[in-house]
Amino acid sequence: MDPRRLVHRLLVGTATLTVALTGLTVVNPSPAAAQVCPPPATGFLSSAPATAPRTVALTFDDGPGPFLPQILKILRQYNVRATFFDTGAHDATYPGMTRQIASDGHVLGNHTWDHNYPSQVPGGWTVPYLVDQIYRTAAQDIALTGQTTCYFRPPGGFTDNVLATMQHTGTSAVLWSIDTLDWQQPPYFSQAAVDAIVSRATNVGGQAHPIVLMHDAKASHEPDSQVTRFRANTVAALPRIIEWYRANGYVFVGMDGGSGLRGFNTDFNGDQLGDVLATRPDGSLWAYLGNGAGGWLGQPLVGSGWQIADAMYFAVNFSGNGHPALLYRKSSDGSLWMYSTNGAGGWASNRQVGTGWNIFSTIFSPGDFTSDGISDTIGLRASDGTLWLYPGAGNGTWAAPQQIGAGFTGYRHILGAGDFDGDGYPDVLGVTASGALMLFSGNGFGGWRSQQQVGAGWQNFTDVLSAGDFSGDGYPDVLAARPDGTLWEYAGNGTGGWAGQFQIGGGWNALTLLAGVG
Ligand SMILES: [Zn+2]
Repeated sequence: MDPRRLVHRLLVGTATLTVALTGLTVVNPSPAAAQVCPPPATGFLSSAPATAPRTVALTFDDGPGPFLPQILKILRQYNVRATFFDTGAHDATYPGMTRQIASDGHVLGNHTWDHNYPSQVPGGWTVPYLVDQIYRTAAQDIALTGQTTCYFRPPGGFTDNVLATMQHTGTSAVLWSIDTLDWQQPPYFSQAAVDAIVSRATNVGGQAHPIVLMHDAKASHEPDSQVTRFRANTVAALPRIIEWYRANGYVFVGMDGGSGLRGFNTDFNGDQLGDVLATRPDGSLWAYLGNGAGGWLGQPLVGSGWQIADAMYFAVNFSGNGHPALLYRKSSDGSLWMYSTNGAGGWASNRQVGTGWNIFSTIFSPGDFTSDGISDTIGLRASDGTLWLYPGAGNGTWAAPQQIGAGFTGYRHILGAGDFDGDGYPDVLGVTASGALMLFSGNGFGGWRSQQQVGAGWQNFTDVLSAGDFSGDGYPDVLAARPDGTLWEYAGNGTGGWAGQFQIGGGWNALTLLAGVG
């Protein structure tokens, strides 16, 4: 039988199953609650939140659009948090990109639905008109991402009735202090245009907290002959802008004051590059530190006595300390323990977090599977092949487990895959008994969106794991060990497929347990 069809039939039949098993409460997954906005600013904001002596807010208007994925990729590579003032119309056109903005951890701002200037609206910008434009966009963005838009940028920077509207909508109005004028770029790549954007973006004039205005798309209504929708010059300028601000001591902040992207800084030693931890039969624990380019920086010894463990995996921020935690199961009694890390290649604390986890043949973290900002755990029950989601609570405990699948009996490996298909939500990969590699795409709210076969012949690998973006291209990869001890990187292409495969090590058959972190 075609394994793809078999798995499809089994999973579809149980995708919404909510049968309560003895002693376990089953709860339907619910979308993440929308966060509450801070009180609206009384005036227009034209400086970045001053969370450090020097901060800078990069802002991108008018998207999403075809150039946004390149911008998001650069921001991931530099771990820079930005603010995107999207129009509702473009969010409706590009829902996947909208979710990606939010799930990467950027601030999703509001830029009206239609992007009409006051002169383009009969009667101009009245408070009811602006309230309607903002509410429609906000309602859609909550449905798409679970996030409330707390910041509003008026199209064109017009201020008519904007502050009065903010009191109704509970949002803060954001202008800018540095205008890159990148909307003026020509409809083709031009080094002079790139240089001009960089020059304007970095002309801070002594500002300690600038807001930089850029555009990832076009939403204004001039004909393309007057204002192009081409943004490759903005894309090319962005790394130079980021490097300039970083070299001059600025911290990148979203308009909410937050820094850094969700899912980053999830490595073991704090360099934001994916790593692998592995035990040897003598109980020693080793950290194989990724170099972010498909290779290794080193392999320090980081523990001993680990022969007591028969399973281990990383869960990002499970303890609530902002760093990944290594969870491991004691073979003697099936108890689950959490070793929280200090984010710098060392350990913070160790305590028991569960009992009876030996009912599972595999346990792993898919990342934040429920879109509440806390990583979760999935277990495959050995007795009946069902899959169980344990939603992380953010303090080293879980909410009630939920059954999220069945038919996984005989799977050789099952693992978190990061956002393998690029829709903004974490996914799961599994290797069937016959070696089919299946991609189960998460829907961001504790369930599934779709599944497809993405490989064959994977039955020969002794271990398969994810270490996040191991190659440094911004997309999660898969690592797999062969019986001859060679370790291979299968580079994800960010859209559910593959960019290539590379041997990245040997001698891995001398290791016992492997756990990827990244
Ligand atoms: Zn605009």
